Order: sequence, then C-alpha cells, then structure tokens
Amino acid sequence: MVKDMFTWIYSKIKTFAASAPVSLEEKTRLQHYIIFMILGIPTMCIFGVFNLLKGNNLIFLFAITAAFGLIVGLALLKKITKGSWVYRSNALLYVCLVSYMVIIGGDDGSKALWAYTTPLIFCFLFGTKEGGIWSSFVMVMAIFTFYQSTIFSIEVYKYSPSFQVRFIITYLFCTVISMWLEYSRHFFLKQSKAISANLIKEQAKLREEIENRKKLEKELVTIARIDTLTGILNRGAFFTAAEKEWDKHARSSKSLSFAVLDIDHFKTINDKFGHPVGDDVLINITKCCINSIRSFDMFGRIGGEEFALLFAETELEDTKAVLERLRLAVESTSVAYEGQLITCTLSIGLYTNIPPSETLTEMYKKADFALYQAKRSGRNKICLHPQIIVQSS
Ligand code: GH3
Ligand code: MG
Ligand code: MG
Repeated sequence: MVKDMFTWIYSKIKTFAASAPVSLEEKTRLQHYIIFMILGIPTMCIFGVFNLLKGNNLIFLFAITAAFGLIVGLALLKKITKGSWVYRSNALLYVCLVSYMVIIGGDDGSKALWAYTTPLIFCFLFGTKEGGIWSSFVMVMAIFTFYQSTIFSIEVYKYSPSFQVRFIITYLFCTVISMWLEYSRHFFLKQSKAISANLIKEQAKLREEIENRKKLEKELVTIARIDTLTGILNRGAFFTAAEKEWDKHARSSKSLSFAVLDIDHFKTINDKFGHPVGDDVLINITKCCINSIRSFDMFGRIGGEEFALLFAETELEDTKAVLERLRLAVESTSVAYEGQLITCTLSIGLYTNIPPSETLTEMYKKADFALYQAKRSGRNKICLHPQIIVQSS
C-alpha cells in the first residue's frame, strides 16, 4: 500500500518533470521541491499537533502555516519558477520556524538541532549559492541568539558555551558539505548535458554521412548502369535486363525480337566535324530513337555508335513498323553545326524467335548478321535475318 502510494507519487513527479517546459537543471530543482513538499506536509502537520499538545502554541502556528504554504506550493506547482514568491515565502517561513526553535531551545536545548536541516534542505532546493545564503542566515541568527537573553520578549534558552561552540562548528561543517555536494551535482549535470549535446551533434553528423553514402551508392549504381553520354542503358545493363526478359519469355510462347542499330558512316562525321560534334549527333539520334519506340521496349547503347533494341510480346509486323518509324525519324533529323545541317542514317538488323529455341547471345549474333546484310546492301535500311524471311514467307 505504502509502496503503491510512493510509486504513484514518483510517477506523478516524473510526468510533471517531463511536461514542464524548462531546462534540465530547473526540472531537477522542481523535482527536489516536490519531494520536499511531499515529505514536509505530513511532517509539519505531525510536528504542529505534537507541539500543540505540549502547549507550544506558537510552534503549532508556525508548523501549520508552513504546512499550508507547502500545500499552496503543490497547488501552484505549474507556476513555480526559480524566483517564485511561493517558493521563497516557504523558505522564509521555515527559517523563522528554525530560528524560533533555536531561541526557545526546548527540552535540554534539543530543538536547536532542527537548525541542521537548513543547509541540507536549502542547498537541495535552491542550489549552492542561494542555499549557502539561507543557511548562513540561520547561523548568524543562532550566534546572535546565543548572546541574547530575550528576543521579542521570548526568553532565549541558556545554551552552555561548549554547546554553542560545537553547534557553530558542526553547523558550519554541515553547510559547507551540503554546498559542496550540491556544487558537484550541478557540475556533473552540466558536464553530462554537454556530453549528451555532443552526442546529439555526432548523431546528426553520422545520419548526414549515412544519407550522403546512400546518395553516393545510388549514383554509383546509376553510373554503373547508364551510359554517361546518351543517358540510356549501357551494354552491361542492357544485356542483364535483356537476359531477364528472355528468361520470362523462355517460359511462354510469345515472340521476342532483337534489333541491332548502327549509324552509317559515322566515322566520316567525326573526321569532318570533330568528335564533340559526333557526340552531339549520337545524343540527337538517341533522343530520336526514344521518341520512336514504346515505353516498354528495351533500349541500350552496346557500342560506340551501335544500339540494341529488345521487343517483347510484339508480333514481327509490329516490330518492323516501329523500326521503320525509327529509321525514318533518324533520317529526317539533323544537328546544326556552323550553319550546316548534319544528317545521318541508320542500318538495322533484326531477328525474331519464339523462345526457348535460342539463347539471347544467339539472337544477338543473328541480328548482327542481319545488320551486316543491311550495310552490305546499301545501308539506311532494315534487314531481317534470312531464317525469319523463310519463316514468314
Ligand atoms: P559503317 O557505316 O560501316 O558503320 O561506318 P562507320 O563509320 O559508322 O563505322 P566505323 O566502325 O568505321 O566507325 C565508327 C566510329 O564511331 C569510329 C569511332 O571513332 C566512332 N565513335 C565510337 N564511339 C564514339 C563516341 O562516343 N563519340 C564519337 N564522337 N565517336 C565515336
Ligand atoms: Mg557505323
Ligand atoms: Mg559500328
């Protein structure tokens, strides 16, 4: 039951500390204040009632007021900041109570021992500096009291000189140790804050580095697959993708066509206008081809001025139509250079088969053979491999 109550109180403190929009130091200070209030309210009530029964009406009044102040503190918890009046008035009340007890001394002067709670509580609540000031205040009050016989017509207890000296020394000791402990706590808190801030920074850097590497990896993959001049698949990437397509069609009865495209007399363009112009022509022809084929046709640059096309699930007649459209588009396009229009043509070799009769490499060889035929028979044309001509006739 008691354990449950403490767990509940602890969870409340934690929730409050987490929700308060203040610094870590301020949160810790507030947590201390809450703990003090929770312990202080019942203590003050019991203490007050005990003193009332003993006839110490003034102590009862002090204790009950202090308990009330703490309850007010709990109610106004959300509004409490470091300099809050609730916070300070409670401290003042406590100092008055302790001073009063030092004055009256009680049974054999034992009430004066309450003074030792001051440095502990005030350093715990207000930190090193302010805690030290409040504690010194009580000590000055005590020393002052020792030299008086009455204060505000209250008779001062007669402390023996040895008690006075020991009281002052031990009180001073208690104050210095409390201040030192609070200072160390604050110091380590600051240090751990700095370490965690550094850690957060490092974490952000690391995340950035990972992102950069991911980007770089993507770029590398792209570079490995894409031809840098024309932006289409390079030879390796084209054949890898074509193999996959071939695998798919090896299990079906649909036709697959392989076309090899080669620019006619490209060397002449390079020789006449220079390689950079030749590059522009290559880029222009690539664009022309992309515009003539369909989005699902596979297109790649497999050599200097050689390209390859793979047509999946397309009838021979349709394949021929696409290639003819492409050939005408290339024929009618041009690149302007120094007032001249550079035009060129394409020779195309085509092979179609119904898998899995032949491998992709065999298909490529046959399309290349057909290209050779196109070159030999005058260029700027599409030639079918003789095997297909026989099949389709
Ligand atoms: P054919 O009609 O018989 O194909 O003649 P061709 O001149 O096109 O063929 P050839 O194989 O003799 O020459 C191809 C030229 O393509 C040679 C080479 O310098 C050029 N070439 C290859 N790659 C590039 C490139 O990336 N940029 C440029 N500008 N030229 C290239
Ligand atoms: Mg050529
Ligand atoms: Mg060539």
